[in-house]
Amino acid sequence: MNGYHGRILEVDLSAQTIQETALSEEYAKQYIGGATLAARLIYDKVEEGMDPLGPESPLVFAVGPFTATSIPMVSRYAVCGISPLTGYWGEATSGGAFPFRLKGSGYDAVMITGRADAPVYLRLEEGKAEIKDASHLWGQDSYETQETLKGELGSDGLSVATIGGAGEKQLKYAGIMNDQGRAAGRCGMGAIMGSKNLKAIAASGNLRPETADQETVRTISQEAVTLVRGNLLSIAFKEYGTLMYMDMGMVMGDVPAKYFTRNVFPVEKVTGQALRQAYTVENYACLGCPVACGREVKNFGPGQDTVDGPEYETAVAFGPLCMNTDLETIIQANHLCNVHGLDTISTGVSIAYAMYLVEQGVLTQEQVGMDLQWGDGKAVVKLVEMIVNQEGIGKILSQGTLAMAREFNRDPDEAAQVKGMEMPMHDSRAFHGLAISYATGPRGACHLKGDYYNVDMGGPVLEYGIMPGERMDSTGKGEAAAKYQSHKDLFDALTLCKFSPLSPTQLSQILTAITGWEYAPEDLLTAGDRSVNLKRAISNKLGLNRDGDKLPKICQDALSEGSTDGIEPDMDLLLRDYYEHRGWDWETGRPNKDKLVELGLEQAARDLYPG
Ligand code: SF4
Repeated sequence: MNGYHGRILEVDLSAQTIQETALSEEYAKQYIGGATLAARLIYDKVEEGMDPLGPESPLVFAVGPFTATSIPMVSRYAVCGISPLTGYWGEATSGGAFPFRLKGSGYDAVMITGRADAPVYLRLEEGKAEIKDASHLWGQDSYETQETLKGELGSDGLSVATIGGAGEKQLKYAGIMNDQGRAAGRCGMGAIMGSKNLKAIAASGNLRPETADQETVRTISQEAVTLVRGNLLSIAFKEYGTLMYMDMGMVMGDVPAKYFTRNVFPVEKVTGQALRQAYTVENYACLGCPVACGREVKNFGPGQDTVDGPEYETAVAFGPLCMNTDLETIIQANHLCNVHGLDTISTGVSIAYAMYLVEQGVLTQEQVGMDLQWGDGKAVVKLVEMIVNQEGIGKILSQGTLAMAREFNRDPDEAAQVKGMEMPMHDSRAFHGLAISYATGPRGACHLKGDYYNVDMGGPVLEYGIMPGERMDSTGKGEAAAKYQSHKDLFDALTLCKFSPLSPTQLSQILTAITGWEYAPEDLLTAGDRSVNLKRAISNKLGLNRDGDKLPKICQDALSEGSTDGIEPDMDLLLRDYYEHRGWDWETGRPNKDKLVELGLEQAARDLYPG
């Protein structure tokens, strides 16, 4: 098959066996690659009541037909499984060089099950795979592990994806790090690696599948690079990183502050401009990306002179959400999360909730172990350390906000999460299309498939009739957000960066040129719908119903300040509109049988509607 190696690696760490299976043409056409292909592989393994951290729980790393081609912004991989944080479908993606190396190693996907008796790592090299001893790596942080393996295996063309201490301890929101500070952060995929005693994957190689129409791919690549270079958003990311949104977002009421209870905050000290002027050393990029949104910044903690800089999500989670204006402590907190492999969003939201509980008089100074006040950046850094070290209150914070609410007998509506995964740093009150995306996202509160603010700020998807509208009006947004969610879900099948400005027409032309199979823009939307419904069916098998499709009140109730003053999304209207468009059953929260069959998900139709 063009665009694919046609090979899936299956690794059973309990039996210490490795085998290859063929990727069928049907799977490649229906599920494309990346997170959607992973979902199809995982679907067959999922059973009701399955423990995400049990040996039978599958973990899949996958790339797609775009990965390692000349198309810009495609060096991404997906890592998927059952989330230990939510108990439902979980996925995370990351960029860097690792996706190129994983594809170059000769596999479209790697599925890992079982649990090794002792720490191991997986070595992938040009069509060969080996399980190797990692006892000397266990206990090393994510940067040390990458360095050690490069020292042992040779750094030329090698890339490593690894867990740090958080993954080893199976903390519920542990992520996976690669290429220094690139993170597949969300959903606790690092905890699954830890539960399998799998420390790392080291990949190298230059194997490339054939391309059906290389000349067209080359032409479109050149056009795409020109488009990306001239795109206003790309230019802003290059200049100021993802933090460029901070002040604009605050004007829109889109930057949550003080644990989602405020949206007015003096952001000028934590903007992209502030980071660039005082702290940025240089930009860096995922392989083959002309944007280079990554920042290397001065370090303020122990160790090296420079560290990976915070992204927008991280800077808000450790900044305004904790009422912290001190960029130096934000940089430190981010670096600590990278070193130990923790999701910065869930970490920051859990810390902000602890601050809120102190203010409410629920948590005492004795329980926290310090005088915890809003805006105390040093306390934020200390709490990250306590989470990693499982020390005192850090043990409870490492479980996430829903577990914290239960622990302290608080209303779950106070826990800033959806399905157990912490809210990202865009406020549901500011964009109602975002609110419904959060409530229904395949992996819980997800800003990457629900970035509806991009639509309402002037980014239509013309082919699908998704047009900018009144951002704080809920009418019609359920259907539009569902379509947009499917469109963005497909990016993770193709392994395309969410910041790519390519249109569905361009994406379908590229996919056709790579694979030789004809795709039209509407075929891609159908593939996105199939992907969302397949992931939903996995979560349904694991017990999800409509009760999980809701926002916590703390992120929904109207505030009395800023540009969202007095306005809140009409969740009932949004949800009914969304369900109707999706063809989901209002009583059970499952896709209707006809919808599953229409999308080619016959197995899911049989499983969800037996008899
Ligand atoms: S825009 Fe940033 S995250 Fe996206 S591919 Fe480029 S460097 Fe990577």
